[in-house]
Amino acid sequence: MFDSLQDKFQNVFKSLRLQTVLTEESVDETLREVRLALLEADVNFKVAKELLDRVRVKALNEQVRSSLTPAQEIVRIVRDELVEILGRKESLLTYSKDYPTIFLMVGLQGSGKTTTSGKLALWLSRKKRRPMLVSTDVQRPAAREQLAIIAKQIEVPCFAGEGITSPIELALAARKDAADRGHDILIIDTAGRLHIDEQLMQEVSEMQLKLRPSEVLLVADAMIGQDAVRSAQEFHERLGTSGIILTKMDGDARGGAALSIHHITGQPIKFIGTGEKYDALEVFYPDRIVSRILGMGDVLSLIEKAEAAIDQKAALEVHHKLRTNTFTLADFQDQLRQVRKIGSLDQMLGMLPKVGMLKNLKNVNADAHEKELVYLDAIINSMTPQERQNHEIINGRRRKRIARGSGTTVQQVNQLLKQYVQARKMMRSMSQSFLGRQLGKLNLPSNLTQAKS
Ligand code: GDP
Repeated sequence: MFDSLQDKFQNVFKSLRLQTVLTEESVDETLREVRLALLEADVNFKVAKELLDRVRVKALNEQVRSSLTPAQEIVRIVRDELVEILGRKESLLTYSKDYPTIFLMVGLQGSGKTTTSGKLALWLSRKKRRPMLVSTDVQRPAAREQLAIIAKQIEVPCFAGEGITSPIELALAARKDAADRGHDILIIDTAGRLHIDEQLMQEVSEMQLKLRPSEVLLVADAMIGQDAVRSAQEFHERLGTSGIILTKMDGDARGGAALSIHHITGQPIKFIGTGEKYDALEVFYPDRIVSRILGMGDVLSLIEKAEAAIDQKAALEVHHKLRTNTFTLADFQDQLRQVRKIGSLDQMLGMLPKVGMLKNLKNVNADAHEKELVYLDAIINSMTPQERQNHEIINGRRRKRIARGSGTTVQQVNQLLKQYVQARKMMRSMSQSFLGRQLGKLNLPSNLTQAKS
C-alpha cells in the first residue's frame, strides 16, 4: 500500500534536509518533486494541483516553528494537507433507530462487493451487532451462492428467499425476517454489473425509496485507480451514495484512487479492504494513512511534539497572566478565537485552561454556539485598546457605545463582561491548583517555562 509514494517522498524530503531557511525557490523545487510523485502514483491531477497550491501558500506564509527545521516544516504542511484531502477524520457508519438498520452495498462486478458484504458483517458481529445478509442478484445465482458460502464461514445468517424472483421483494422479505429474528442490521448485497446500467440503477433506487437504508456504500476496487474514482462519481450522482469502501488496497502499490476519491466525489472513505481474508477490513483513518504514506515515524512524532509544545507554551502564558492578574479582555478574545478556529469545544477545553463560560456552552447546538462566539468577538472588537486592557473603566456610557458599535445590546455587553470576570476568577483558581500541577508535571525545556508577561 502506497509503497512507491513512500519511497519518492522520502527522497524529496531528504534533499531538503540541508536547507536552513525555506526560500520560494526551495519550496517550488520541492513541490515540483512532490507533484511528480503524486502524478506517478496516479493521483488525479486536479487533486494534486489543489494540494500543492495549498502547501505552497502555507509554506511561504506560515510562521515557522522555531523547533522545526525547514524540511520538517514542509513535511508538517504536506501531512496536514494530505489528511485534509483524505477527509480529515474517520467517518463512522450511521445506524437507524428502527430495527433493522439497512446497509445497501452497491458497486461494479468484480469490485469485491460480495466479499466486502461478508467482511462488513463479520466486522459488525465482532462489535456485538447481529447482522444478517441477503443477496438480491436474482440474475446471477452464482453470486447469491457465493454470499451464502461466505455467510456460513463467518457464521452470519444469510436470507435465502427461495422462490422470490424480484430483487425488491427479496429485500423486503429479508427485512421482515431480520426484524422477526431480532437482527439489528441487514446488509443487502445488490446486483453487480460490468457497467452502470439503467435497469440496475432503477432497481437500487427503488430499494432506497422503499427501504430507506442508513448507508448506501459504494464498493470500489483501488487497483483500477482513476476508473474507480470515475465509477464512484457516477454511482454517487445517480444514487446519492453515503460512503465508499475501497477494496484491494493491499494490491495497490500506488494509491491514486485512495488519494483522489474523497476529494473528487465528496464522499467519505469509510473502510478499506486489505486482503482476501474476511477479517481484512479496516476503518479508514486519514491521519494514520498519511503517516503510512509519509513513512517518517521519527519526523512525524517530532512534529507532534513541537505542536504540543506550542499548546503548552500558550497554556503557560495564560497561566502566567492569571497568576499576575494580567489576563485581559484581549486575551479572553484570543481564547475565544482559538475556540472558533479549532471548531471543537472539547478539543479546546482539553488544550487550554478551562474557561468556565465555554463549558456552559457545551450543550448549545453548533450554530447557536458559533453565533454566540461571533457576537462576543464583535463586542470586544468595539472596545478601545484601553478598555480591552482594563475592563474596570467600562462604565455605562462606554457600554452603550460598545453595544452600538457591535450591533448588540447593552445587556449582551453586560453579560460578556460578567462572563469574562467569572472566567477569570475560575481560571485563576484552577491555575493555582489543577493547571499549576499539570504544568509542573510537563517537564518543559526552560525557555518555555519562562513565559513572557
Ligand atoms: P464482486 O463481483 O464485486 O462481488 O466481487 P467479489 O466479492 O467476488 O470479489 C472479487 C475478487 O476480489 C475475489 O477474488 C476477492 O477475494 C477479491 N477481493 C475482494 N476484496 C479484496 C481485498 O481487499 N484484497 C484482495 N487482495 N482481494 C480482494
